[in-house]
Amino acid sequence: MPELPEVETVRRHLEPLLLGRRFVSAHLPTDYQKALSGISAKECTTLIYGKTIQSLTRRGKYLILNLEDSHLTFHLRMTGRIFQTEPEEQEKKHITAWFTLSDNSHIYFKDVRKFGRILWSSDLKWLEEKLGVEPLSAEFTPEYLEAKLGEKKQRIKSALLDQSVVAGLGNIYVDEALHLAGLHPEQSCSGISRAKWLKLHSSIVVTIQAAIDLNGTTFQSFYFGEEETSGEFVSQLNVFGRTGKPCKTCHGLVVKTKVAQRGTHYCPVCQPLR
Ligand SMILES: [Zn+2]
Repeated sequence: MPELPEVETVRRHLEPLLLGRRFVSAHLPTDYQKALSGISAKECTTLIYGKTIQSLTRRGKYLILNLEDSHLTFHLRMTGRIFQTEPEEQEKKHITAWFTLSDNSHIYFKDVRKFGRILWSSDLKWLEEKLGVEPLSAEFTPEYLEAKLGEKKQRIKSALLDQSVVAGLGNIYVDEALHLAGLHPEQSCSGISRAKWLKLHSSIVVTIQAAIDLNGTTFQSFYFGEEETSGEFVSQLNVFGRTGKPCKTCHGLVVKTKVAQRGTHYCPVCQPLR
C-alpha cells in the first residue's frame, strides 16, 4: 500500500507532466461509479472544465491537483495508480476513472481493489481536519509526539498508524522506524521514556527521508505506467517483509506478528517489550 514516500514519488514524477494542463472532461466506466466519491462524471466535468493544474502537492498519503479555485484530491489506498499512457487492453477493466486534458492527453486512475477515491473540493479544510502533522515539517518535534501520545495506553504501532497524529505513516515505515528506535510494536505509549520519544522522532524522520530519496519501497513497478521504475528503499528494509531473516543490527531473527490487524515485523532482541 502506498505510504507517504510512495505518494511523494508519484507527485514528483507527475508534476512536470501535468503542470499547466487544462481539464476538459472526467469519465467513469459504466459498471463502476464510485471512484469520484459519489458524483457523476458529468457533474465532475462541470466542476473542472477549463481549469488549469497549477500545482501538485501532497498531504499525508493524499495527492492533490490544485486548480485555480478548487482541488482534485487522489487517495490511492491499497492499489490505486495514476498514469498518463494509454493502458493495455487487459488493464482497462481496472481503470476506475479517467480525465481528458486540453492537449488530448489523459490521466488514468487504475485501481484493482477499487478502494481508491478521487474527491473534488473547493478547499482542503476537510483534509486538514482529518490529518496530523507532516513528519518532515517543522511542527513535527519530539515534544509534539510525546504530548500527543505520552499519556495513552494504546500500543505504539497503532498510535503511529493513526493519521490524525502523524500523517503519511503506514505499515512499512512504522515497522522500520520502531526498529530503528528500538521500540517493541506492542509497547504501551505511556511506558515510553523521554529519551525514547526523542529517538523515535528522529527514527521516523530519518526513515521517511531515506525512503523518499530512494523513491519509496515498491516490490513491483506498480506506481508508474510509463516506466519500469521501482523504489529502491526495499534494499534498506531492516525488518519489514524479512520474517525469519537475520536482523541487520544484531543477527537475531526477525519475527512477524499481528498488531492492530496488521502484519508487524520486529526484532525481539533489538526491540524488547518493557
Ligand atoms: Zn536485532
